[in-house]
Amino acid sequence: MAATDTPRTRITWDYAPAPESADHVRLRDTYGLFIGGAFVDPRDGQRVPSINPATEEPVAEVTFGGEADVAAAVAAARAAQPRWASLPGRERAKYLFRVARLIQERARELAIVESLDGGKPIRESRDVDIPLAAAHFFHYAGWADKLRHGIGGRDFSPYGVVGQVVPWNFPLLMAAWKLAPALACGNTAVLKPAETTPLTALLLAEICQEAEVPEGVVNIVPGDGATGAALVRSDIDKVAFTGSTAVGKDIQAALAGRGMGLTLELGGKSANVIFEDAAIDQAVEGIVQGIFFNQGHVCCAGSRLLIQESVADEVTAKLWDRMRLLRVGDPLDKNTDVGAINSAEQLERIEALVQAGVDEGAVRRSVACELPERGWWFAPTIFTEVAPAHRIAVEEIFGPVVSVLTFRTQAEAIEKANNSRYGLAAGIWTDKGSKAFEVARALKAGVIWQNTYNKFDPTAAFGGYKESGFGREGGAAGLRPYLRVS
Ligand code: NDP
Repeated sequence: MAATDTPRTRITWDYAPAPESADHVRLRDTYGLFIGGAFVDPRDGQRVPSINPATEEPVAEVTFGGEADVAAAVAAARAAQPRWASLPGRERAKYLFRVARLIQERARELAIVESLDGGKPIRESRDVDIPLAAAHFFHYAGWADKLRHGIGGRDFSPYGVVGQVVPWNFPLLMAAWKLAPALACGNTAVLKPAETTPLTALLLAEICQEAEVPEGVVNIVPGDGATGAALVRSDIDKVAFTGSTAVGKDIQAALAGRGMGLTLELGGKSANVIFEDAAIDQAVEGIVQGIFFNQGHVCCAGSRLLIQESVADEVTAKLWDRMRLLRVGDPLDKNTDVGAINSAEQLERIEALVQAGVDEGAVRRSVACELPERGWWFAPTIFTEVAPAHRIAVEEIFGPVVSVLTFRTQAEAIEKANNSRYGLAAGIWTDKGSKAFEVARALKAGVIWQNTYNKFDPTAAFGGYKESGFGREGGAAGLRPYLRVS
């Protein structure tokens, strides 16, 4: 490790391990594709293992869909759609409520599988991902018979068949963000989970079976980028995508001229702005939550930390002290704060960008924690002396790495915060309500948190500006992208 501090083992107290037992989780050895209400063998797809990033061991075997599999899933969704759309809203709601309740019933199992398959700490899977996934189904179940109210009394119809591609950072939660509003609005869906994290989506398929969701309404086809590319080019009516800006641009180009619906939730380089009048200790907690939550694999992560010059030394010193207490390691340990990096590829991307930061002259400090020998890990890292043009201030790192910039005045804070091709989220830390509102109005970001960070709620709209994409998910605003409104 390049730049480190004294080992954390010098702290005189420590936690005993508190591992969550995975004994009661019963995964199948192998999962087929979920098409037309059943798990089926692939037509032209292939079987691959899904790997635990903390151990590099296989968790279960899954099936990646080929083009013919995608076509079969779309056909099943097409066949089911007219009847699904013709059900009264309260009937569709009944199924969504059942799915929500079954997610709650299987919450512990889902949380463990999410952590095994994706590397995130069990504390986050258990307390954030899974409860929020259930909450999204509950929320949109509530909207299913009130759609007209949600879109200002206008006439509407569902798109038809929607293709949904989700990333690996919040696998079940992103599936819920996509499926719940789509189904509430009378669409049927083909969902492609990410290559590295397909398992909770497959458990969701089992839940759909248990909830007796009509055959073909939900179809789940795991796969890699080629499966995603086949899905967005198939005979569907709308695409909803969350992932990198590069792939989002590729999808937008592929759909040009087809008159289809499209929503893109892409990357970010969100500014977390700390003013000198902020409650500093509280802000430090917010900074930690903003960038180290889910190993920094968060599209809205507060990865550009803007601190007012007068308190910059104090904030960075307190932040470093706090970072040194973060526990990195076994995702299934209930004390773990920072789990495994999701894949070897993502670790390589993080390492390359961190190296670029060092090469360009920023000052790196990484916590000197003992990292497990197997698996993919990255120690919490802070960069100071960062210039706005440095790659680590411009590009999405998507890892536990924060870049610190400073500012002197409110105007400079706004200018620096907006100096990004992205516009997904921002945080503002100040004691002054009027200042918070003034700054929030001036920031070009879809979500702005005041004196908090990374708070999610199914009733609140989420989405970006500029290269962070377009369309909103969550709340009433999340209905419109799934309806043709006249
Ligand atoms: P991708 O954008 O490649 O992955 C997102 C999803 O899109 C995955 O399901 C992926 O499949 C699928 N996909 C990949 N290529 C295509 C394609 N041509 N057409 C349709 N679907 C496709 O992100 P990566 O996993 O490659 O991560 C790269 C970077 O993207 C990260 O370092 C991070 O900066 C950013 N990112 C941002 C996210 C966000 O929430 N905004 C989420 C994930 C990544 P597969 O799983 O096989 O790749």
